[in-house]
Order: sequence, then structure tokens, then C-alpha cells
Amino acid sequence: MNLLNRRKFVKDSLKATAAAIGSGVLMQPGVLHAAPQAVTFSQLTLPYSFGSLEPSIDSLTMEIHYTRHHAAYVKNVNDAIAAEKISYASEKEFFTNASKLSAKARNNGGGAWNHNFFWQVMKPGGGSPDGKVAEALGQTFGSIDKFKEQFTSAATGRFGSGWAWLVKEGGKLKIGSTANQDNPMMDTSELKGTPLLALDVWEHAYYLKYQNKRGDYVANWWSIVNWDEVARRLT
Ligand code: MN
Repeated sequence: MNLLNRRKFVKDSLKATAAAIGSGVLMQPGVLHAAPQAVTFSQLTLPYSFGSLEPSIDSLTMEIHYTRHHAAYVKNVNDAIAAEKISYASEKEFFTNASKLSAKARNNGGGAWNHNFFWQVMKPGGGSPDGKVAEALGQTFGSIDKFKEQFTSAATGRFGSGWAWLVKEGGKLKIGSTANQDNPMMDTSELKGTPLLALDVWEHAYYLKYQNKRGDYVANWWSIVNWDEVARRLT
């Protein structure tokens, strides 16, 4: 390195150091310091085609639900996170602090997460609960049919828009529902626990095919439940 280049090197190094100090990222050499990343939400790739849950859920409903409703929740929560400088480190932390969130962040955050969950607990062809899921449902609710009756009541009995849930809290399975886009991970929710299964009972989820007949939608939905996913989450 000649003198001129050496001077330039020193000058550039000083500039870089000053910039690093200015931006607050000057770290001890050799120590890995990842800047804490605020949680944002993303839309899960749908694990099946829009039409593959027919006849339980029609293709057009799935397409509108995924590409418009769900996509909007994801965009809007991320807009709120940026605009309001929300800096929770995880989805869990975001929801356990729901009481401190703006309505926009809470509603759209719930919408983003709940739909990602919903897509995963359905699959073309469905099946029946077996193994540890069948055992746990039988022990808690008396039988699979009794479980389905109670869950159906939660889904059809939810006034207005919301969700029906099967959750696990403190080692116990529970059925309940939430309003709007709330979920059982939120500190604001009366129903609390780790979600194992969920059903969207907003009219946008069924109205094109079923109109006001929510009960028919719920009855037909049982044949597309992804029980393997429920089992995976039941630990
Ligand atoms: Mn929905």
C-alpha cells in the first residue's frame, strides 16, 4: 500500500467507524450482536389449491378469503407495526400484550395469525381423529361426537363475527370462541390457551355457498379437518 492509498484507507476506516457509532451498531470485535428484530407477520403459502377443499368450502370463497381478506390483515398489521414502532420480539409476545396494542394492530395481527393457523388445520380429504387426539378428546369430552357437538355449539353460538377454538391450557383441553379476530393467546381474551384447532365463522368464510346457514358450513367443515396437524400441536 503506498502512502496515498494508506491515507485513503485510514480516512475510510475512520468514516466507517463514525458511521457505525452514529447508527449505534458499533460492537465489540469478535462478538456477534444481532440487532433485535421486531416481529412482523407473513402470509403462509396455502398448502393446497383453492378448489381442493370442495365441496365443504368452495373455490371462490377460498380464493377471496386468502388473496383479499387474509392478505389485507397481513399488510395492515405490518403497516401498523411500522407506523406505531411496535417492537415485540415474537408473535407470542405481540399477542400477550394485545391489551396495549392499537385496534388496528390487534385486529389485523389476529387476522394474520388466525388465518395462517386455519389454513394449516384443514386439508383436502380430511380424516378422523385417531391415536392420542382421539384419546384426549374422548377423555375430556366423553366421545368424539360429544366433542364435535360442543365445538359446533361454540361455532354456531358465537354472535356476529369470530372464531371457535379447541385449546390446551394447563394440560387441559377446552372449547370456546372469540369475537372478531381475537385469539386465545391474547391477554384480552376470556378463552386462553394454546390453539389446537380453529374454525373461522365470519360470514366471509362461508356466505357465498351457505348464505346464512352457518350450521351447514360447520357440519361440512368436519370432513376437511387436518387431524394430523392437531396431533402435531397436541404435546
Ligand atoms: Mn376469515
